[in-house]
Amino acid sequence: MRGGKGSLKGYKNRRDFSKTPEPKGTPKESDKKRFVVHEHHARRLHWDLRLEIGKVLRSWAVPKGPPEEPGVKRLAVQTEDHPVEYIDFEGVIPEGNYGAGTVEIWDAGGMELLEEKKDRELKFTLSGKKLNGTYYLLKVKGGKIPGDNNWLLFKAKG
Ligand code: MN
Repeated sequence: MRGGKGSLKGYKNRRDFSKTPEPKGTPKESDKKRFVVHEHHARRLHWDLRLEIGKVLRSWAVPKGPPEEPGVKRLAVQTEDHPVEYIDFEGVIPEGNYGAGTVEIWDAGGMELLEEKKDRELKFTLSGKKLNGTYYLLKVKGGKIPGDNNWLLFKAKG
């Protein structure tokens, strides 16, 4: 199941919790909204941006990492929603499991969702150590890169 639906079905289907240290988790609403960026040394290094929206962490894999300054647009491929408990996760996903490799927190902090146009645009502020300010995620339609889950991530000017 594709992400953005607020369901953990896709997350759980991909994992065997007797073999991965990742949290099983349940959908839960919390009062303070946060974000995390995981640096994920999987088969290919990437950064996972996760935003606490509704009862889950909406997630995007960013191959080149989130931009720290305006004027840089980065591809962000939406992945399955993750449980809110994942926001604190760091560890090693063993070989042979989905996403095998080391997961470290690259940045984390508060997040405020300013605007959402369902399935095509998110505007939000991040207050982390590395990422600070207003950001956009815009869905790409009919771009050069194949796939239905491609978004662009960039920081707003000013
Ligand atoms: Mn990942």
